[in-house]
Formats: sequence, structure tokens, C-alpha cells
Amino acid sequence: VIPDLLYDERVYDKNGKHEQDLSRVKYYLEHFEEFDGRYSIGRFKLNKYHFERLVNLYRELAEKGRMKVSIDEFLGMLENGAFDDYESEVEEYFRLMTGQVFMPNTPALINSGRPLGMLSACFVVPIEDDMESIMKAAHDVAMIQKSGGGTGLNFSKLRPEGDFVGSTAGAASGPVSFMHLIDAVSDVIKQGGVRRGANMGILEVWHPDIEKFIHAKEKNIGTNVLSNFNISVGIWEDFWEALRDGKRYPLVNPRTGEKVKEIDPKSLFEELAFMAWSKADPGVIFFDVINRRNVLEPAKGGPIRATNPCGEEPLYEYESCNLASINLAKFVKYDDEGKPYFDWDEYAYVIQKVAKYLDNAIDVNRFPLPEIDYNTKLTRRIGVGMMGLADALFKLGIPYNSEEGFAFMRKATEYLTFYAYKYSVEAAKKRGTFPLYEKSRYKDGELPVEGFYHREIWNLPWDELVEEIKKHGVRNGMVTTCPPTGSVSMIADTSSGIEPIFALVYKKSVTVGEFYYVDPVFEAELKKRGLWSDEILKKISDNYGSVQGLEEIPEDMQRVFVTSMDVHWLDHILAQANIQLWLTDSASKTINMPNDATVEDVKAAYLLAYKLGCKGITVYRDGSLSVQVYSVEGEK
Ligand code: UDP
Repeated sequence: VIPDLLYDERVYDKNGKHEQDLSRVKYYLEHFEEFDGRYSIGRFKLNKYHFERLVNLYRELAEKGRMKVSIDEFLGMLENGAFDDYESEVEEYFRLMTGQVFMPNTPALINSGRPLGMLSACFVVPIEDDMESIMKAAHDVAMIQKSGGGTGLNFSKLRPEGDFVGSTAGAASGPVSFMHLIDAVSDVIKQGGVRRGANMGILEVWHPDIEKFIHAKEKNIGTNVLSNFNISVGIWEDFWEALRDGKRYPLVNPRTGEKVKEIDPKSLFEELAFMAWSKADPGVIFFDVINRRNVLEPAKGGPIRATNPCGEEPLYEYESCNLASINLAKFVKYDDEGKPYFDWDEYAYVIQKVAKYLDNAIDVNRFPLPEIDYNTKLTRRIGVGMMGLADALFKLGIPYNSEEGFAFMRKATEYLTFYAYKYSVEAAKKRGTFPLYEKSRYKDGELPVEGFYHREIWNLPWDELVEEIKKHGVRNGMVTTCPPTGSVSMIADTSSGIEPIFALVYKKSVTVGEFYYVDPVFEAELKKRGLWSDEILKKISDNYGSVQGLEEIPEDMQRVFVTSMDVHWLDHILAQANIQLWLTDSASKTINMPNDATVEDVKAAYLLAYKLGCKGITVYRDGSLSVQVYSVEGEK
């Protein structure tokens, strides 16, 4: 922890020189012997060993010219409580992570303590309508992705294909062509980078190239077209109004501000749904919903117009976000009679710990670009999230697709946001608010959380929290996000994000042979009931990994142990909407549909998700892409 705080390559002087005044360090070192027992600065208590280590480390790094802070600033940080109880805290974070209670996003896991030191997963990069800006965006994407971050870009400011280019008197190549350029950059970077670079490409629905954009991945058969891009159409309220009222919808050239043509919104909507039905791309982002409760809007001078690659993190340009996800399954305990219950108090405690972890991560992070460093620190956005939802519900014996399941999702998310804010207010008292706080709508007692405006569903004292916020402010502009947790849920050995599990049993082929992978909670239940056998595993695996309709499996187990394909798409949307209700940011969720779902179903899903306050939607119809990451036996 400490080395990260002090270590910064970017301040390394080109001539290898540094101007740091080391007299204070020398003073502390020379007088060190006087500090017998414990040394204390403000609230910060250190034993001699730790103090020596800190000062030596400071000196060593300062001599190499790699210091981010002066010794005075460093001591000031100590006094302000930046390292309060650091020994016990380090141990506690170690215990929470190795105990699989929470995991930070992959970049934090792989880059911390290393020279890159880049800890965030989510970024948004601006792209303006000129070649300088386009190539700068390509550069920015490269710098972010080489250290494992994902980037979102809204291409809507680019003039449409065929439009006039002044400098050459030629014709513009349009947003889709530049998306291919960024895709090529990601392709090259991923060879030497930390992990596959992911992008979100966005085009707003009024752009003249919107139809080309919708079809941009039409030829995709797995991973051959724009393979480093998820694409999403950004929709604003006026489009829905035109659709509802049967009016024509204008497409506007962003360069001139002029209307280029009018289209029938119904047929565009149809095309959009058809492409999503056939190719799982594009998704849709509801910008008006994202900005409806956006308390940062006055501070940033406008709405949010982009998200990170998987859609869970709406961000301003050059903002970034660190995520960490809490494993809900770990909070299911059993009483004396062996009945499961959820330990809400411990959960509340861990949420505050994780919020603190992420808040500190902003300060120790070595951001890939100075613009990102600057903008991230203006809003100090953090993404406390959750994973292991499906496993927790299995343990609690609650079906994912039930009113009880949705109520649990709401409560788990309400706690997440409430206690993340609770930390953030406490931190504001000690360390100050995020710099743009004064210009935000928090000051008026508003929160960027829909659930807050529905008193009838509160489980927690939001009135009191808001009073505290109005009095002391908050340290973090936004606090909660539910990412897919593609890698970190595997490390935590739990179900991913907020999704139901993909299959209860599936066959895995490895060099030494084939074996069945069985969900651990399901395995325990089968064994408890004396149902465990090779035959039943084969039967479930042959049944697409599902127990629905298998007579050997008791009815109550069939209700609880559902897979993503067992859950109807309407219930997938309800789950997403219930979780969205209490998040400041958004959630990554796939709305799974069976292979025989229709384009009409996709359209209905979009409208329903919009009406229910989701911030976007991604539909995946089974089999619509020929390459899937996992596949279950029954599909082959
Ligand atoms: N991400 C990325 N490349 C990847 C996976 C993820 O850039 O291969 C970014 C992207 O912004 C995504 C975010 O990380 O939205 C979180 O994804 P996930 O939760 O799956 O990441 P994990 O921390 O589990 O690796």
C-alpha cells in the first residue's frame, strides 16, 4: 500500500534530477532513536519498525526522483488520517480478499505494486470532428488498454460519411470507418497488453450514419468484425416521442447542425431490434434515463453521453472508474437449526470498507493520461458493486425469478448505495468533498438514485443520510456500479455479477479427459438430499445444464435452481430494473432470450426496460452468434 502511495514515474525528471528537499527526511532519520516505542503523528500511530520503513522508503524513492508528494505533504497525509490504522487495515483487506469476500477489478489486481500502477477498469475518451482529435483518441485508447482498461467512445460528433472535408475538398469517411481504426489499435495493443482491450462504440440515434452503424457488425460470425467493440445506439427521449406519436424523426449533421433527412422511427427501431436479434449487437443506451437523476450535470455543464465497454459505467469524457465487487454468497450464514439467513450488518460493514478501498485507490492510481488524472479527481467516482447474487439466492432458497428474489435484489442494492454513501460522508468530514461537490445537486438534497424518490420502498433511513450529506457533503460523486465480474467472480469462485448462473452442470473437456463442472451450492444440495450420482449429472448436462422438467429433481429445487435460460426474458428485465433502482451508476446485465424469440420480443424488451428505468439494455438470443465463450452439452 505504502509504496504505491509514494511512487510515481511521471514526475521522474528527464535529466534524472529532482529538486526534493530531503532535510525533513534527514531530520526524522537522525532523530529516530528518540522515538522509543511508538511514534505518533496526529491520529496515526506507528511503531519504530514501520516508521523506519516508511521514512527509508520515502528517502529511497525521493532520491530516485520518483516522489509524488513532498515529505511535508506526506506527513500532512498522515495527520489527515490517510493511513489511519494502516497496519490493521492492510491485514483486514488482505483477509477480505483472500477470503473471497470482495475483489477489485482486474487492473487493480494485476497492476498494483508494479511499475504500471494503473488500477481502473473503465474509461471514456472524447473524439471530436477533426483528424487531430481522432488520432489523439486512438493514442488515448492505446495508452489505456495497454494497462488493462476498457474504453468507451461516442462517435456522434464526427461528420457523416461522404460529408465535405474542407482541407482536402474530399469526402469524409464517417464514424463507422473510424471505429474500425480504433478496433485495429486495440488489436495491436492486445498482443503486448495486459488483457484484451474492450471498447464501447456509441452513435446517437439522430446521426445521419445511424443505419450504417446499426449494421456495422452485420457480417459478424463470432469475432471477425469489430471484435474489440460492443456497439450501442444512444437514444434520447425525443426519439421515443416520435416513435410513440408516429412522427418522422430528423437526422442531423453534427458539423453543420442541419437536418439531413427525416426517417420513420418505427422502421429504424425495427432494424435496430432485428440486428440485435440476429447478431446481439447493437445494444441500446437510454441517455435520458442516465441523466434523469444525474446530480453532477450542473457541475460538469452537461449530460453524460458515453459508457465503458460493458455499459455499467456511464462516464464523462476522460473520467475513469475503479470497481470492486462484494461476494453476496459470503454473507449467507446458517442459524442453529441450519436455516440460512443473510447477515445484513456484516454486509453493511464490508460495503464501507470497500468504498474506502476504492476512494484511496483514486489517490494511489497511476492514471494513463494527465487528462484522466485530472477529471477523475474532480468527481472521485467509485464503483462499489456486487457479485455472487445467484449463489446467494441458491443458498437462501429464493428463486431468482420471483417477487422474493427481486425484493432481495432491491435490498442488497439499497444497502450497497446507502453504506457506500455512509463511508463517503464520513470521508468528506475528514478529507473533504469531491472538488465539484459545490456545483452539484447534492447540495439541494438530491441523490442520483431512483429508489430514493420512492419512499414506500425504503428499508433504510435515507432522510437522515441526506441531512448528513447536506451538512458535510460527500467525497465521491457516484458510488455504486454492478460490473460483469467476468474474471474476478472466477477468482472469488462465485456466480458472476448479478446474473443467474449459466448452467448447473456442464461438461468440460481437458487434456486428461472429460469431467462435469457442478455449481458448488447445487452440488451440496444434491448431496444433502442423497440425489448425487453420475447419471443425474449427465442428465442435467444433457438438459442444457438445467433441472427444469427432470422428474428426479424435487419441485422446490427446480424452483430455486434456475439458470439464465430458465429465467424468462421478462424476469431478466425485472431483475435489472430492480437492481438499477438503487444504483448511482448502472449494471451490466444480459437479457437472455431463447432461440425462438422474435424481433417483436426484442422490441418489447427495449420498451419495457426503458419504461422500468433501466439505463440501457443488451439482448442475447441463444445461438445468435456462432461462437460462444461457454457452451453446454445439449447445444452441441
Ligand atoms: N474490461 C476490459 N477488457 C476485458 C474485460 C473487462 O476492458 O477483457 C473492462 C470493461 O470496462 C468492463 C470492466 O472492465 O466493463 C469490468 O469488466 P469485468 O467486471 O468483467 O472485469 P473483471 O474485473 O472481472 O476482470
